[in-house]
Amino acid sequence: MTLEELGWSAFFADAFEPYKRDDTIPARVAVRHHGPCELLTEQGPLGGVPMGRLDESKLPAVGDWVVARKLPGERKALIEAVLPRRSAFTRKEAWERTVEQVVAANIDTVFLVSAFGQDLNPRRMERYLTGAWESGAEPVIVLNKVDLSDDPGAEAAAIEAIAFGVPVHAVSAVSGEGADVLDSYLVRGRTVALLGSSGVGKSTLVNRFAGDPVMKIRDLRQDGRGRHTTTHRELVPLPGGGLLLDTPGMRELQLWAGEEALDSAFEDVVGLFAGCRFNDCSHEREPGCAVQEALRSGELSQERYDGWRKLQRELHRLEIRRDARLRAEARREVRRFSRSVKNRNKARY
Ligand code: GDP
Ligand code: ZN
Repeated sequence: MTLEELGWSAFFADAFEPYKRDDTIPARVAVRHHGPCELLTEQGPLGGVPMGRLDESKLPAVGDWVVARKLPGERKALIEAVLPRRSAFTRKEAWERTVEQVVAANIDTVFLVSAFGQDLNPRRMERYLTGAWESGAEPVIVLNKVDLSDDPGAEAAAIEAIAFGVPVHAVSAVSGEGADVLDSYLVRGRTVALLGSSGVGKSTLVNRFAGDPVMKIRDLRQDGRGRHTTTHRELVPLPGGGLLLDTPGMRELQLWAGEEALDSAFEDVVGLFAGCRFNDCSHEREPGCAVQEALRSGELSQERYDGWRKLQRELHRLEIRRDARLRAEARREVRRFSRSVKNRNKARY
């Protein structure tokens, strides 16, 4: 495969320039185990091991472009550096620690997948949209299992209402209805990822795109919802030209986003603020609040308002925890510094 087919562009070529040597090549991370990676290169697949002891936050993620130094006579390479990312999906690393972990990098388009039946929940979609805007990838809403709906237009209306220009496609991964539209995103060198709750049909879509069963679907459960059996993250080159990134990490993405991303996902709510009487209006019970006025007139639905509030509070909590962690780190840094100064002084006298 050529570099372009793997998603290479002028942006990465520029970033690679300082690392260009006879023994270095660009490589894209297809799979990441704990440390070692499986790399895709112009010269075929390679095993890659990060050089030295890299901090978890500096390790490559699936989808990353890296500088690889090929070991002579082996299908292995040392990873010297991770090139800057065009986009990144991140999540909180663990429950208590508010550490950002990159789960997938350099995604061009993210399919936000929901399914007709029980899953067409605008509040969940708002959350996905916020995550997508934060990542830098272009969101596309995919409403799967259209074959199960008697009136898809009416059912999809609630999602259309919050899409604000993001394309919405009603498809069936099983019957193929409407699914051809999705192929237009999976073109040469473009990387697409899927995000959505379990059971909405992501594996079925992946298998459809890939042409053969990459992802095994086992109908283990009586309710016929099936279970996918993938255990690792993967970047899969498709026969049609694009690349598909499917990782459990992407699938169970927790929100890690900033104010700006939230604002992009809630343009209609944020657009009202200018009409509030007070600049510092909290949009709760101040007089002359345009948001409250829109709620009363029905221009803004209570559900939409509550969805925005809930995400906003969640972000706020995250920010507080992040700040607390940064302050603790700063204190440690100061202590380390003053210790080293003391030691130096001791050594001098
Ligand atoms: P995932 O958890 O999102 O990967 O979902 P799966 O791909 O495992 O699909 C869950 C179940 O939904 C399986 O039983 C699929 O056969 C079924 N399914 C997937 N796509 C469709 C569809 O378009 N229509 C219908 N009726 N069922 C579907
Ligand atoms: Zn207000």
